[in-house]
Amino acid sequence: MTVASPGQGVLRVDLGAIVANWRDLGARHGAPCAGVVKADGYGVGAAPVARALRDAGCTTFFVAHLTEGLALREALGQGPAIVVLNGFPPGAAGDAALWPVLNSLGDVEAHSAAGRADGTARPALLHLDTGMARLGLDAREQRALAEDRGRLAGLDLRYVMTHFACADEPMHPLNARQAARFAEAAARIAPGVPRSLANSSGIFLGGGFASDLARPGCALYGINPTPEAPNPMRQVVRLEVPVLQLRQVEADDTVGYGASWTAPGPRMLATVAAGYADGYLRSLSGRSHALLRGRIVPLTGRVSMDLTIFDVTDMPDIRPGEMVTLVGGEGNTPDDIAARCGTIGYEILTSLGARYARAHVGGA
Ligand SMILES: *Cc1c(COP(=O)(O)O)cnc(C)c1O
Repeated sequence: MTVASPGQGVLRVDLGAIVANWRDLGARHGAPCAGVVKADGYGVGAAPVARALRDAGCTTFFVAHLTEGLALREALGQGPAIVVLNGFPPGAAGDAALWPVLNSLGDVEAHSAAGRADGTARPALLHLDTGMARLGLDAREQRALAEDRGRLAGLDLRYVMTHFACADEPMHPLNARQAARFAEAAARIAPGVPRSLANSSGIFLGGGFASDLARPGCALYGINPTPEAPNPMRQVVRLEVPVLQLRQVEADDTVGYGASWTAPGPRMLATVAAGYADGYLRSLSGRSHALLRGRIVPLTGRVSMDLTIFDVTDMPDIRPGEMVTLVGGEGNTPDDIAARCGTIGYEILTSLGARYARAHVGGA
C-alpha cells in the first residue's frame, strides 16, 4: 500500500471483491476463467490484482502488449501462463509460459517456422475472427489453413479462441452467428484443441457460449457485464480526493473556466484535488456529482486539469482535508459516472491515472 501525501487522492481497490467476482464468474461459466489484466488491470493495478487471483487459483492471465506480459512475469514469478493478446514476434525474449496470440496467417507462419527450425514447438493461441474484424485470422485465411493444416507444424496450440462483438446485448443475432462460425472453423482447423470464447458478458449468454477458458476482464473490476439488467458483480474501486479549499460565493458570481456556472445565490464551494488529468473526464462538467459523508454534492462549473469544484452549501462544517468520494458508492459507480458523460465504465476505470496513492486491500 502506498501512503498518500498531503493533498493527494487515494484509489482504494478491494482485491477481496475482485477474487469474489472471479470465483462467481467461474461458477457461472462452469469451467475455468482466466484473469484479463491488460492496461494495468483496467487501471487498478495489474500486479496486485494478478497476485491475488493467482493465490485464489487462477493459472492464466491475459495482457495486450508484450511489455505488459514481461512486467507481469516479474510480478508473478514463474508458473502462471501469460497470454499476449496483440501477439509478438517469434524472436522476442519471453519464456515458455508467455504465449502469443496468433492473429494472422503471417503470425502462424512466423511462429511455426521458428518452431520447426529449432525443433521446439512454440506454445501459442490461435485467434479466429468470426465477426469482430479487429484481430484474428479472417475467413479467407481460415480456409487456407483448413486446407493445409501442415502450416501448424512447429506450433503447440494451447487454445483456439474468438472474441464476440455484441456479448453485452444478449438478443443480438451476431452472437449465435459468431458461435456457429467459430464451432465450424475450429473443428476444421484445430480439432481437439481447447477453446476459449467468452469475455465477461459472454459468460452470461449461457451454455452455448461456454468453453474451456473464459476471459473475463471488466466484470472482475465490478463493471456490469449485463448492462440490460442489475449489476451482479461486487464493486471494487473507490476514489477519494481531499478538499483543498472552501469558499463562499454570492449570487451572480461565476465559477471556473468559461464562467460556465453562475451561483444562483450564496453558496459554499469546495475545490478538490482531482481533474481530467486524473480521469475525471472534462465531459462530466455540468452533469456529475460526488459523495461527501454519503450525501450527494453537485459538480459546479467545468472540470479542470487538476481541480474540480463541488457545491457543499448543505454541509457547512466541511473543512479542508476532508475526503470527497469522486468514484464509488451508491449511484456513483464507474458505470454510473460513464452514463453521465456518454461513455462506458471501462473508459472511466482505465482513465483513472497515476496521481493517486493506490491502496489495495484484502485478497484471496
Ligand atoms: C479485453 C478482452 C477481453 C476481456 O473483455 P471484458 O469485456 O473486459 O470482459 C477478452 N478477450 C479479448 C480478446 C479482449 O480483447
